[in-house]
Amino acid sequence: MGKEIGGETLTEPSVTKVWKPATVEEATMIKNKRKQSAAYIAGGTLLQLQKEQGTPLPSHLIRLDQLTAFSKIQEKEDSVEVGAFVTLAECVHHPLLEGQARLLQEAALAVASPAVRNRGTIGGNIAYGIGDTIPAMLALDCDITWMDEDQKLTTSLWYFLQYARKEEALILSIQIPKQFSSDKRYAFYQKVGRRESFIPSLVTASIVCDKNQRGEIDHIRIAAAGGSSQPVRLENCEAFLIGRSLTNRCLDELHERIVDEFLPASDPFVSKQYKQIVAANLMTAELAKFIEK
Ligand SMILES: Cc1cc2nc3c(=O)[nH]c(=O)nc-3n(C[C@H](O)[C@H](O)[C@H](O)COP(=O)(O)OP(=O)(O)OC[C@H]3O[C@@H](n4cnc5c(N)ncnc54)[C@H](O)[C@@H]3O)c2cc1C
Repeated sequence: MGKEIGGETLTEPSVTKVWKPATVEEATMIKNKRKQSAAYIAGGTLLQLQKEQGTPLPSHLIRLDQLTAFSKIQEKEDSVEVGAFVTLAECVHHPLLEGQARLLQEAALAVASPAVRNRGTIGGNIAYGIGDTIPAMLALDCDITWMDEDQKLTTSLWYFLQYARKEEALILSIQIPKQFSSDKRYAFYQKVGRRESFIPSLVTASIVCDKNQRGEIDHIRIAAAGGSSQPVRLENCEAFLIGRSLTNRCLDELHERIVDEFLPASDPFVSKQYKQIVAANLMTAELAKFIEK
């Protein structure tokens, strides 16, 4: 049976129909007309995995690979911009991401296997909602640009994840700010799984931290994710650390605060409490290395 939308009768095809929009406006128009019966497809790695696990493909797939303007990494005045359709493999190898965006390279390298990284995109990883690159991008204070209906919007990634993320949003790019404000910077990313590699994460943690000349923290971003839980910034812990020098006492207090603020869901094999302790141990141990620097 056809559905009546805006005077047009939309009939669901018996096999999945694949659309190849040439512009972002065309892509969002197709999606907005068909809502849940359509999905964007970039690398297709997650959609393929979900299909194998029993989730049927939607009736309409909207291919994004013709939107080549968002398939490159480029330097802007204040940022490095990564197009949403850039593959994870390109992120791992691209020279512009070395230096301060090394975290994103480490995070991209922690996703799956080379075959998946060769096809899987950064936009698909964000849209996944629990992608392993998200904590690194939160720690790097990235902005995100997306199409909401027919408007192009840019906000911080953290704002987008908390308030603006919705199924129709077409992610176009992320911007990694160039920020070399303080004397000393420490940056850290780690994915912890139940074995060494090619495994869903139990906990993923990332920190970017700057110390001033007096040894006090003047900028810090702390991000964590726990398996199937959406990545979060630990803003109370960040606020606690601003203006402080890292001492062992300060790190002991931070440990308690991380356990209080990081609230992942329990998974069948791993409890919420276990993930909280892993995240707190990992982050305080990493920050302890920064005391001596
Ligand atoms: C074997 C295997 C292992 C994996 N391991 C990991 C892992 O360790 N860590 C991890 O994070 N992920 C993992 N994944 C999931 C997936 O491969 C990655 O998250 C990848 O980055 C998804 O990108 P994609 O382009 O293939 O997305 P697609 O499969 O094309 O799309 C994924 C979702 O995002 C939407 N989407 C895609 N692009 C956009 C866009 N630009 N704007 C809005 N929505 C969009 C799609 O509609 C769909 O809902 C794994 C997948 C497989 C098959």
